Amino acid sequence: MIYQGVEELIGDTPLIRLKITAPNKVRIFAKLEMFNPGGSIKDRLGKYMLQQAQVKGLINQKTTIIEPTAGNTGIGIALAASQLGLKTILVVPEKFSQEKQILMKALGARLVHTASADGIKGAIKKARRLETEIPYSYVPMQFNNRDNPAAYYHSLAPEIKKEMQANELSIDGFAAGAGSGGTFVGVARYLKENFPKIKTAVVEPEGSILNGGPRHAHRIEGIGVEFIPPFLEKKDVDHIYTISDRNAFMLVKKMALEEGLLLGSSSGAALAASLKLAEKLKPNSNIVTIFPDSSERYLSQNIYS
Ligand code: PMP
Repeated sequence: MIYQGVEELIGDTPLIRLKITAPNKVRIFAKLEMFNPGGSIKDRLGKYMLQQAQVKGLINQKTTIIEPTAGNTGIGIALAASQLGLKTILVVPEKFSQEKQILMKALGARLVHTASADGIKGAIKKARRLETEIPYSYVPMQFNNRDNPAAYYHSLAPEIKKEMQANELSIDGFAAGAGSGGTFVGVARYLKENFPKIKTAVVEPEGSILNGGPRHAHRIEGIGVEFIPPFLEKKDVDHIYTISDRNAFMLVKKMALEEGLLLGSSSGAALAASLKLAEKLKPNSNIVTIFPDSSERYLSQNIYS
């Protein structure tokens, strides 16, 4: 098959069975989202949100896309916007990985920085201000755009169902991290509709507030919330697992050494949560999790030291 453009390479990522021994002889399967052309799960979001904005007549050739982002969404949006010939401005808190910022610029985006201490809320505020200042601008706003969970409901989730069913495997558990919450909500909702007995676990780092813990800085990048994502509903969530930086980074190292997988820290957290969820399931159950990106975009942050 010859692909006609980079956007056709988004999705249909590999599903891998991990070798790690989990409690109750549970098998863990992970979607390797680093295989998307922009290197993360967020390529799906950039493509879908801009497609939907086109369908709804919200953007045209004059539009400048503006989005607050921790990085991967910025890369996904910049990739999709470049193929539509649209200008992109990404508002990024300074603390986020240099590698991601370099890639956003390589894809033609202009970056605007906000102070790390102001968190993602500071970036959201700045994006809204730019929207009022720049003519013909459009802010997809992943944090409250229903097309965010829909992107995963319509692509990632059916892929998981198809791949597991093709191998006659049940899906008994699902674990995924939440930043905007789009990945978790889109996939959890679809899987609960299709497999009503499934148990779901949403994953956050220590320092995020889903489990009621105090907000503080963490090293795990890409997940963790400063406010409850508006599309996260109680019915989607059976467990909330709060994972320490130490546990996530230990598993990132273990995956590289033992399974040859070079993962970002949010993947380490997703795996830590899958191991916890395994304790709650019957012997020989299957858990599917999501590995959102690779460690290559965190090398300057000493992910392996
Ligand atoms: N992991 C990484 C590395 C990410 O960049 C993101 C997106 N911020 C997530 C996980 C979480 O995805 P979502 O925004 O869909 O909750």
